[in-house]
Amino acid sequence: MDHDDLRHWSKRAADWAHDYHSTLRDRPVRAPLTPGSIAAQLPENPPENPEAAEAIFADFERIIPPGLTHWQHPRFFAYFPANASPASMLAEQLANAIAAQGMLWQTSPAVTELEQVMMRWLTQALGLPDGFTGTIHDSATTATLSAVLTMRERALGWRGLEKGLASQPRLRLYASAETHSSVDKAARIAGIGQENLVKIHTDAHLSMKPGALAGAIAADRAAGFQPAGVILCAGGTSVGAFDRIADCIAIAKGANLPVHVDAAWAGSAMICPEFRDLWTGVDGADSIVFNPHKWLGAQFDCAVQFLADPAPQIRTLGLRPTYLETAGRDEITNFNEWTVPLGRRFRALKLWFTLRAYGLSGLRDRIRNHVVWAREARDALARLPGVTITTEPSLSLFTFALGSDAETEGLLHRINDDGRIYLTQTRHAGRYVIRVQVGQFDCTQDDVAMIPQVVAELM
Ligand SMILES: *Cc1c(COP(=O)(O)O)cnc(C)c1O
Repeated sequence: MDHDDLRHWSKRAADWAHDYHSTLRDRPVRAPLTPGSIAAQLPENPPENPEAAEAIFADFERIIPPGLTHWQHPRFFAYFPANASPASMLAEQLANAIAAQGMLWQTSPAVTELEQVMMRWLTQALGLPDGFTGTIHDSATTATLSAVLTMRERALGWRGLEKGLASQPRLRLYASAETHSSVDKAARIAGIGQENLVKIHTDAHLSMKPGALAGAIAADRAAGFQPAGVILCAGGTSVGAFDRIADCIAIAKGANLPVHVDAAWAGSAMICPEFRDLWTGVDGADSIVFNPHKWLGAQFDCAVQFLADPAPQIRTLGLRPTYLETAGRDEITNFNEWTVPLGRRFRALKLWFTLRAYGLSGLRDRIRNHVVWAREARDALARLPGVTITTEPSLSLFTFALGSDAETEGLLHRINDDGRIYLTQTRHAGRYVIRVQVGQFDCTQDDVAMIPQVVAELM
């Protein structure tokens, strides 16, 4: 395949994509297959000789779509969304064609400079103070790891990087049990250890208890541990919990500890001023992560980390061997020094296209609709005899259950085998519950109304 063939086939791919998206509502949301059925259709060995693009494309059309769970399906109400707006898809097509490495400013000044401008746009869009800068990671997991590595090094006076962790003081991190497992992963792979991630009790509103946080920090200091930082939750994955950010940050700052806020999902909603009460005080954070690739429409991968001061993270993650120096240019930003990987995709392009194609007003309308429609679905479900709403809507996420775990689980299986909608489960207060989140970019009020309809039919 050469570039002339590519021109032909990328037009075919664009036509295929249009057909795919316009027929999504007719397809079951979740792949209805048994394990191994896709792999069984593929040859055991790689081809020795070139194959015709016709054959490759035909196999793609035949084998792949039946094995997909359709994340852009308007009735995808599982997990959190991984929205891809059409404008984002177009930008990704261009970024694919350019295939640049944005590791240094000079390896493509446009990649770095557009990213810097997008960070300024997003700072304003979310109502954060001007002092924040930021960068784009592949995922919130990587952003949280970067923040935790920085907490570790700050606590160790940057000795861990050189000396390793043996014979260093035992560090402690603090978070509530509502935070995402990426916080546990960061504690583990940063060498701090799961046991040293202290899970602070939550109150009736599922916020970390600020007093319990203060108590845990003081007790750890008295016992000879070294507290390193606090991770707060703004929109938990399980049921959408929010820590009381201002109160918890006040405790952390009083103890001279840095704070990272995980708003991976809910951060997108902060483009709507009326939701910002949910994270009041966030301007005091050192680091905030949110995923435009969840709810804003700039497709995976696009995780934004805001930093009050990038210097500690650059000191932790930045390395500048001779082959990565940029002669005579000390003032430029080399984003690889802010992140774990060296190589970086051109991710800012899809943010630029998405923000322009819909405008903040268009994106706000979508998010506001999702929140209203989720409440309508909650009310309709609550009217069904036998259904209990187990957690009230946090933005556009709520949970419900039937009388027993077995009944709830049976219902969830029937719903997902049916295929008109897709929901997933979590555990809350000891119960198996079904999560409903509304957030797909193209979903309509009718799509959301299908949730109580399907539940009523299949209960
Ligand atoms: C989805 C999610 C994450 C992980 O996001 P990735 O970008 O997939 O790593 C972390 N925290 C919260 C609250 C999330 O919802």
